[in-house]
Amino acid sequence: MNFDFTTEDRALFEAVRQAAAGREGLPELLPALAYTGYLNPELSGTTLMGAMEALASLDPALFLGVEMSARLLGRALARWGSPAQRARWGAPLAQGTWIGALALSEQGMNVDNEPLATQARREGDGVRLEGAKSYVVNAPVADWIGVVGRLEDRPALFMVARDAPGLTVEAALRTLGTDGLPIAGLTLAAVRLPAAQVVLLTDDHLEVLRLWENQVLIAAALGMQAAALAQARDYAKAHRTGGRPIIAYQEVGFKLAEMLTLHQTSQLYAYRAAWAADRNAKEAQGLTWCAKVFCTEAAERVAGEALRILGGAGYQSGGAAEQAYRSAKYPQIAGTSTEIARVKIGDEALGYLN
Ligand SMILES: Cc1cc2nc3c(=O)[nH]c(=O)nc-3n(C[C@H](O)[C@H](O)[C@H](O)COP(=O)(O)OP(=O)(O)OC[C@H]3O[C@@H](n4cnc5c(N)ncnc54)[C@H](O)[C@@H]3O)c2cc1C
Repeated sequence: MNFDFTTEDRALFEAVRQAAAGREGLPELLPALAYTGYLNPELSGTTLMGAMEALASLDPALFLGVEMSARLLGRALARWGSPAQRARWGAPLAQGTWIGALALSEQGMNVDNEPLATQARREGDGVRLEGAKSYVVNAPVADWIGVVGRLEDRPALFMVARDAPGLTVEAALRTLGTDGLPIAGLTLAAVRLPAAQVVLLTDDHLEVLRLWENQVLIAAALGMQAAALAQARDYAKAHRTGGRPIIAYQEVGFKLAEMLTLHQTSQLYAYRAAWAADRNAKEAQGLTWCAKVFCTEAAERVAGEALRILGGAGYQSGGAAEQAYRSAKYPQIAGTSTEIARVKIGDEALGYLN
């Protein structure tokens, strides 16, 4: 196993940081990132994990918006789309000229528990789509939404344009964290699409999409940890009380040591899981569930400890640690939830998934 980054990897991470610096919205950020190669759907393994971590540590909310646009939808099109579909949607997503969304979860249920109810029937030369989706990142701002459902007996991804008759995107939800990230439910009532807007999926699509989504959420957790740790470390060196910088108090130093340990262990877990997934290793899913549980729960702990070091300054809105603390629930809940991941890890350990 080798999770080392190459010189090219490190150059990409630096280019991503520079492209993102000072850019506040997806329309401005996506083309700048495209220029670095970050939006390439073929990017994978530790290179992808390291690059995602670099962006997530700058702004976790914007990072998630980018990933749900170009990464998840872009990778789905690259894997399952025809050459014409990849040219029509994959290319503009990778160039950052369109904003995308992937609508998977449905109302009041988790895709791990029940089959998807969103269904299409063939009608003339096209299909007629009915269904509802919840918690769709980017839905209020997306040019195209990839809706996962079934076309009669086949799983399919339906490419629905923002202005498609029958598509209703609800108002953006008010959420605990990830400030500025638009998330909304949507309904599809007799949405008619030409056959060219249907991407046929393989039976393993949910497993694959969840793996990619979990990788994104792991990277978000790494970014939150890095941002909270950096703010607390800098503050501990600069802020003085009792005639000395607070880092001179042993308990503050212990906290920073604990946070650093959690962060570095999270990084190792994330890189190992990404490395295994890139090689289609048998243990890739299991490692990714373990990394998701560890990294996302560590993000909440690291951010919480950062706030304690920051004292009153941390309790004020606007800091990286405060934002990370409020946002850390997101990667625990979304994707494979930490509860479901634990059940799956247990099943795997008992040999039920082999
Ligand atoms: C901020 C945010 C952004 C999201 N973005 C997207 C997106 O862009 N696209 C998209 O398609 N989806 C998205 N999701 C949806 C997400 O992936 C989950 O499917 C969704 O959060 C599940 O929510 P629920 O209320 O239906 O949970 P429920 O399924 O009702 O779960 C409630 C509780 O029960 C537990 N539980 C449920 N089933 C089991 C089980 N089998 N074993 C053990 N415990 C279980 C859960 O872990 C949780 O603790 C997002 C969710 C959030 C919160």
